[in-house]
Amino acid sequence: MMKTKTEYLNEVDTYSAHNYKPLPVVLAQGEGIWVWDTEGKKYLDGLSAYSALNQGHRHPKIIQALKTQADKITLTSRAFHNDQMGAFLKKLCEISEMEQALPMNTGTEAVETALKLARKWGYEKKGISKDQAEIIVCENNFHGRSTTIVSFSSEAQYRNGFGPFTPGFKIIPYGDVEALNRAITPNTVAFLFEPIQGEAGVIVPPAGFLTAAKSVCQRHQILCIIDEIQTGLGRTGKLFCYQHEPNSKPDVLILGKALGGGVFPVSAVLTAKKIMDVFRPGDHGSTFGGNPMAAAVGSASLAVLIDEKLPERSAEMGAYLLEKLKTLESPIIQDIRGKGLMIGIEVKASFGHVRPLCEKLATSGVLVKDTHERVMRITPPLVIQKSDVNWLFEKLSEVFRSV
Ligand code: PLP
Repeated sequence: MMKTKTEYLNEVDTYSAHNYKPLPVVLAQGEGIWVWDTEGKKYLDGLSAYSALNQGHRHPKIIQALKTQADKITLTSRAFHNDQMGAFLKKLCEISEMEQALPMNTGTEAVETALKLARKWGYEKKGISKDQAEIIVCENNFHGRSTTIVSFSSEAQYRNGFGPFTPGFKIIPYGDVEALNRAITPNTVAFLFEPIQGEAGVIVPPAGFLTAAKSVCQRHQILCIIDEIQTGLGRTGKLFCYQHEPNSKPDVLILGKALGGGVFPVSAVLTAKKIMDVFRPGDHGSTFGGNPMAAAVGSASLAVLIDEKLPERSAEMGAYLLEKLKTLESPIIQDIRGKGLMIGIEVKASFGHVRPLCEKLATSGVLVKDTHERVMRITPPLVIQKSDVNWLFEKLSEVFRSV
């Protein structure tokens, strides 16, 4: 017998850790930009699993790659080679114009990998004294949830109760090149940042920040590490967000989320051979990283992004939606911002939390999520068509008009 919605919710409430507070919607199916709940109600997915579904739900080419690979071999571990990983990393390196890639699974693991890479590079190539390496990060960053990564979070809740923390990080205000300059010491090995801060509420840095940050890193011989786990692979209207500014290609690029096409956790760290060389056999690894299923899915996910020109579509649809949203005359809106299909609507402090609006939108068939209480993040799959953007805009404007 079919379970009722309440039964689904109660089951999770009873048996799952309460580390999330999801909207009370139980999804059972997805296709393209649409998802359906267990009662058959249809919704536009306006979150795309935090940008992990840039190619849409169950893209046929990605699902086909998954099925084909599942019929051959699924896991080898890195104790042996497999016939999929090399081709995947070659494609990834070619499109990102990087020399080498190290495959992992989740974004968090890829960030950890980049931190270890930067530290080892600092000791081996810059001659920094043992255990003295410093990495500069930004206020309101989000790079994952491991104990090392939350060690440099400025968000109290991400840290409270989880100490002791990993030392060796310095936090500067986001988008502040002068602060970056001041924070650098002879022990600095890297500057790690997001080109648009996603979890912080779609915070776009001042124009010129990416170029300036790269130039400062170059001048001081420190690694410029850009976390494009959320912004990368078309989300902001370019293949990579750093491409919005000239001369800002990072020394180390971190990718995840949409690299797995919404079906598999796939992440990677990309850099030059002379930097990657500091990792030697035994230094770092992952049982699942680079597995043949992930590699086959990753190759298909990249092919879909490129063949279907999804970064270009994101730029076009994002600009169109942003322009329409800016016509919303709502007294509760503080700011509307973003690039491509990464858009945030911030409500005024006097209005309070944006979550009730997200709940209202769910009722009218649009799933979006609040971030940091006052920002509604709108990040639909990049395969969205103009008519669906119009429909999404109508739903958003109804909700904003209703308050
Ligand atoms: N870095 C950024 C910029 C992210 O947005 C996220 C996830 O939201 C992560 C890292 C962590 O990725 P994951 O949740 O796959 O570990």
